[in-house]
Formats: sequence, structure tokens, C-alpha cells
Amino acid sequence: MLARLKSNFYLAMLSLVGLLIAAFLTPYGLYRLFTGNIVVGATDLVMVLVSSCCVLFAWRTNNTKGPGLIMAMVFCIGAILVCISLGTDGVFWLYPFIVFIFFLVSPIKALVMLLLSLSVLVAAALINPGHIFDSIFQLVSFTVTCFITSLFAYMFAYRTQTQREALKVLATTDSLTGAANRRTLDEALISAITQHKKSGTEFGLMLLDLDFFKEVNDNYGHKTGDNVLTELVPILKKMVRQHDAVYRFGGEEFVVLLADIKQADLHKLADKIRLGVNQHLSLPDSKKLTTSIGIALLQDDESWESWLHRADLALYQAKHQGRNKVVAG
Ligand code: GH3
Ligand code: MG
Ligand code: MG
Repeated sequence: MLARLKSNFYLAMLSLVGLLIAAFLTPYGLYRLFTGNIVVGATDLVMVLVSSCCVLFAWRTNNTKGPGLIMAMVFCIGAILVCISLGTDGVFWLYPFIVFIFFLVSPIKALVMLLLSLSVLVAAALINPGHIFDSIFQLVSFTVTCFITSLFAYMFAYRTQTQREALKVLATTDSLTGAANRRTLDEALISAITQHKKSGTEFGLMLLDLDFFKEVNDNYGHKTGDNVLTELVPILKKMVRQHDAVYRFGGEEFVVLLADIKQADLHKLADKIRLGVNQHLSLPDSKKLTTSIGIALLQDDESWESWLHRADLALYQAKHQGRNKVVAG
């Protein structure tokens, strides 16, 4: 549970908002119901109920987008109803809600929802003067402070979102080639094992290693070696199917993970890749490069380490048999 909260930022935020809403709004809602304010009491309790259901749904499905949007919409409508019904006493609730909304939906969606809610409240205050705010001065102060709070919350949320996305790219991709990195591969292998156990989906693995790559560095320089590695990734991506993923395993070794594939097709595709690399990957003097490939189909009850090890052994055999070969493990 703690691991999920740590790894899924949106789920953690959704849960935190749900928890705070349940903890703070439930006593208020009950108090309002018992003191005869049915509209505010019911609104508070509906917000508690909806957010609890949304959090539960997000935990069960790992989907945070839909529940976040529903919670944000219910909070906006609830905040408007509470402000109109309670007047100045309800207005204070709007400030924590402004912050909550930015944890539930994308920054731009949150800003639009808040500005719309603010417009509805201002319109309600203007239609019925003296009901929500005591004076026009209070109304203006409220509008300006809400607007400034929303704007700053937006800027903060937007910056945090872009930094989080940039960090994710840094953590999951190889900086030289742009292929997914070893850490992403480990996670994908674990997920493949889970899917295989659950639904029986067949998974194949290709471990590619460029032949005599050290000579490329020695004869053409390290920069040319880097360029070759960078050029290899789009060549591989073009030859695999759309949902197959290419990972840099390390050095001049790459892995292709393939779902829904049979042994014969895995072998055929690996051979096509071997030929394709030889055809398209060349050095500055047009000399062609070759690659050796070890393949392995995931077996029942196999660990990802053993699966990868079989592909590695097959690659070793391909090298041993003279390179530019595909061997199945
Ligand atoms: P083999 O056919 O047996 O695979 O021979 P090889 O020369 O390709 O294999 P070896 O493992 O001996 O050499 C791999 C070389 O890859 C050694 C290392 O300098 C080079 N290498 C690893 N990472 C990078 C990189 O990021 N850029 C460059 N330019 N070279 C790299
Ligand atoms: Mg190697
Ligand atoms: Mg090599």
C-alpha cells in the first residue's frame, strides 16, 4: 500500500484529498443537518461520499484521471452551493478547495473550473446583493484574493507538473539513444510475468549485441560509436511492431520485448532485424555493421531473471557460432 502511494503521485494526492475531506467535512455536514441546514449538510455529505467512492475506485483500478475530475467537479459545485447558502461563513472554505482542485486535475483544467466557479459566485452575489457578501468591498476583495490564489496555485502546479514529467523522462530513458533504459526494462519484465500468469499472454525477448563494436570505437572514434548507437534505435523501432518496446540494456546491447508472439514469429522477426541492421546501419565509410541476437520465449512459472538469462546464453552462443546470427534459448 505504501509502495503504491510512493510510486503513484496522483493516487497519493487523490487519497490525501479524500481523507482530508472525509475528516473535516463529515462533522460539519452532520452539524449542519442537525441544526436544520439541509442544503449545506447534504452538500457536505455528498462531497464526502463522492470523494470516498472516487478514492476507492482509483485504488481498485489504478485510474486516477476520471475520479479526480469527478471529485473536482463535485467540489466546485459543492463550494458554490455552500457559499450561496451560508454567505460569508461559507466563503472561507473556498481557499482550501482551490488548492485541492490542483491536486485532482491538470493545472489548466483546475484553473478553468475555478474561474468558472468564481464567475458563478460573483454573478450570484450581484443578482442578490447583501446575501453572500455584506458589501461590494467584500465582494471585490473576495474576487481578487480568489483570483490571485488560483493564479499562483496554477503557476506552482504547472511548474511541478513539467518538472515531474522531465524527471520521469530522465529516470526512464537512456540519455544517449532515447531508448527506454534498464530500469524501465526491469519493470516491463516484471509486468510481463504478471500478465503471463494472469492471462496467459505469450511474451518474447530479443537480446541484441552489435558485433565487433569495440573496433568501431577504436577505428572511427568514440563519437562515431555513439552515433551508431543512436542510429540503431530508430532502425529497431521501425522493424518491430507498434506495441513492442526497445530498451538499451547497457553498452551496445539492446533488448526488444514483444507481447503476443509465438516462437516461430519471434525467430522470424529477429532474423528480419538482423538483416535490417546489416542493411541500414553503416559507418562513415559505408561499411556495414552486423548484430548477434539471442531470443527467448517466456516459459510458465519462469522468473524474469531466468528468462533474461536464457536470452543472454543464446546471445553468447550466437557470438560463439561466428556472429551475425539468431539463436533461440
Ligand atoms: P562482440 O562482437 O563480441 O560483441 O565484440 P564487441 O567489440 O562488440 O564487444 P565488447 O563487449 O568487447 O565491446 C563493447 C564495446 O562497446 C566496448 C565499449 O567501449 C563500447 N561501448 C559501450 N558503451 C558505449 C557507448 O555508450 N558509446 C560508445 N561509443 N561505445 C560504447
Ligand atoms: Mg557487448
Ligand atoms: Mg558487441
